[in-house]
Amino acid sequence: MSSRKTSNWRGKNQVIVPWRTYGANAVIALFALFVCGVSPHAWGQKSAAPRSAQQATACDGASFHLVVDVGHSEKSYGALSARGGTEYEFNLRLATQIVQALLDQGFTKTTLLITTDPKRSGLLQRADRANKMGADLFLSIHHDSVPKKFIETWEYEGEKRTFSDRFPGHSVFISNDNPDRAGSLLFGQLIGRELKARGLQYTPHYVEPFMGNRRRVLVDADAGVYRFDQLVVLRMTRMPAVLLEAGSIIHRDEELKLLAPERRGLITEAVADAVASFCALRSKPNAAIARASKTDTSAARTKRAKQDVSRAAAKPR
Ligand SMILES: [Zn+2]
Repeated sequence: MSSRKTSNWRGKNQVIVPWRTYGANAVIALFALFVCGVSPHAWGQKSAAPRSAQQATACDGASFHLVVDVGHSEKSYGALSARGGTEYEFNLRLATQIVQALLDQGFTKTTLLITTDPKRSGLLQRADRANKMGADLFLSIHHDSVPKKFIETWEYEGEKRTFSDRFPGHSVFISNDNPDRAGSLLFGQLIGRELKARGLQYTPHYVEPFMGNRRRVLVDADAGVYRFDQLVVLRMTRMPAVLLEAGSIIHRDEELKLLAPERRGLITEAVADAVASFCALRSKPNAAIARASKTDTSAARTKRAKQDVSRAAAKPR
């Protein structure tokens, strides 16, 4: 961990911001976090993918505020991997990497959000915090498991563990109850397409009847975007919001891939490019609205500019 960039980041931005205390539990937003075992070189280099000149000029990364939410908490850690790792560890590792990549690319307001409240109230706190920060975009990072009926057991390093080698792959979720549904869909599609462009396949199994109450509607079969309207962090946030299940950690092969720097690098790169595209697409029509208001205050002009926003959201590419 001797990278100069990382040292600067830690020194300058390693700010713990206790924003509010709910009983004994505090939610902490970190602008930076040092995580042992994550090599900044491994992903810092991979994340520096060239972006188009169009994106670079249209998007002001320094004023764009993305909140990257680490799914679950240390005490309420979510799923267990096939080898006994906690989902929270996987989420923290990947989310930290994504934040670092975006900071490196000039998205200097990017915030890593860590919640310590293990209860359901912690979900509300995540959305509340992002709303109070006035974030432009919200991304919640998770890793997937399977319904109990698919769980099998095996022995790993002398310990009995659970696994399922079905349903590898990532998935992207949005909520139609988010106030910016079009923006959420746009960002979800951008992430899904960037992952696909890097050879990563989403899992289609959420549409199957056997998923029971975890069955979801697939809203974009190309990008792998599902609807999950009830998710608190997607519906209570006032900015476009997406939840990424980055892969299945209960799947024995996929767990190993997700532990490897290469896969995390690909996912990080995909997310960073999606953020840059989203920022660019959202910046251009906003500028159009500003121009319309300045030169012609008629409602018709402003309405036309707003329609441009909708069209840009509906056609991200
Ligand atoms: Zn989760």
